Amino acid sequence: MASNATSIFDEQHLIDHSTEQASSLSLSSQAVHADDFLNSGQDVAPPLHVSTTYRYNNDPSKLKTWAEKDADNSHEGEGHIYSRHTAPNTTRFEAILSSILKGPALTYSSGLSALHAALVFLNPKRIAIRDGYHGCHGVIEVHQKLTGLKKLDLYCDASELESGDVVHVETPLNPTGQAYNLKEFAEKAHSRGAFLVVDATFGPPPLQDPFLWGADIVIHSGTKYVGGHSDMLCGILAVNPERVKEGWFEGLTKERLFLGNVMGNMEGWLGIRSVRTLEVRVERQAFNAGMLVKWLDSALHPGKEGAFAVGEEASGLVRRVVGRLDHASLQEQDIKDGWLLKQMPNGFGPVFSITMTEQIFARRLPSKLALFHHATSLGGVESLIEWRSMTDSKIDTRLLRVSIGIEGWEDLRNDLLRGFKELVQDP
Ligand SMILES: *Cc1c(COP(=O)(O)O)cnc(C)c1O
Repeated sequence: MASNATSIFDEQHLIDHSTEQASSLSLSSQAVHADDFLNSGQDVAPPLHVSTTYRYNNDPSKLKTWAEKDADNSHEGEGHIYSRHTAPNTTRFEAILSSILKGPALTYSSGLSALHAALVFLNPKRIAIRDGYHGCHGVIEVHQKLTGLKKLDLYCDASELESGDVVHVETPLNPTGQAYNLKEFAEKAHSRGAFLVVDATFGPPPLQDPFLWGADIVIHSGTKYVGGHSDMLCGILAVNPERVKEGWFEGLTKERLFLGNVMGNMEGWLGIRSVRTLEVRVERQAFNAGMLVKWLDSALHPGKEGAFAVGEEASGLVRRVVGRLDHASLQEQDIKDGWLLKQMPNGFGPVFSITMTEQIFARRLPSKLALFHHATSLGGVESLIEWRSMTDSKIDTRLLRVSIGIEGWEDLRNDLLRGFKELVQDP
């Protein structure tokens, strides 16, 4: 049987598609329809294709070897070949991601394998980075072993950077939820011929678009908001359309074939199912987090302009157990300066951190809550809280990372308040 002509993987199509669609449809319309061009059968819901290998064309005159396709740089007339290269569900998922991230996108087996692939491709001599997700530092250590890659501080002087180096910004930052000014880092990197790589996991669409501010590559751990249901591992690299013209997307696609760090077929299918609802989930989660942070902050600073009216008792309780609260919505100077609202116009992200007044409170609070799972990771529809010391040995031992889900925010507030009360009564 001839291979299915409508499931053709065509790099150029993904590239064209990411720019065409992005300009005309809303985010959710893109998430639901950007893969329509790959929807060949009568199914409304995407079918799950589990095959690792695909039949070649049955007409010998139409057979084209891999070398011939490489030579004329097209995959025309041929469908999928082998799932380490491309597969139907993953390709549909990537079509949606390319559209909503506004740059051609490739998926990987995890967020860290996506960062690894980006570093293999760019092969920088230096990387400027600070704090952030500890796993990313683990990937950098592997590269230090292989290539002698040198780490610089994110705020290093521009003169320390050279052509081909990488400035790596994670924003908002894990675990605090604080946001960074991408424009500033893009200017610094580009003034030296270096590249800006942005880990935007904590700020998925519709919260921010790092390409608008000069990112060359945008990374997402799709395990978090894109997946959104705590049931799939996924990494994503999206390439700035300007860099696509320099062959970056093609290069990354070729190297992925040999790194072999693709997602499984099931994840491709789950990815489509999940990303359809990205906007409604993230909007709700960001709203919830904003309300909870405002409520906690109002309890800590009752006199503040625009503060919620938090009762005397609740306010005293919060002040007794909460020492510090971090979230981009509390970066008052950056909001006044203007850049933060420009770069994050639709909410500040569903993760924030609470530093408790005592370590024992941080260790015990999670077990006293009913609506928060005590678990690592984030981005799912269910709220999570993590005593961050469980997975990060370098962090303040009083810090709790909170990932807000889609529950009613008042329920989450009441659960926290009840937990605080129990902590004080039975520390
Ligand atoms: C989780 C996370 C990663 C790693 O993603 P995995 O899918 O777990 O490999 C990278 N960066 C950030 C900011 C993360 O939160």
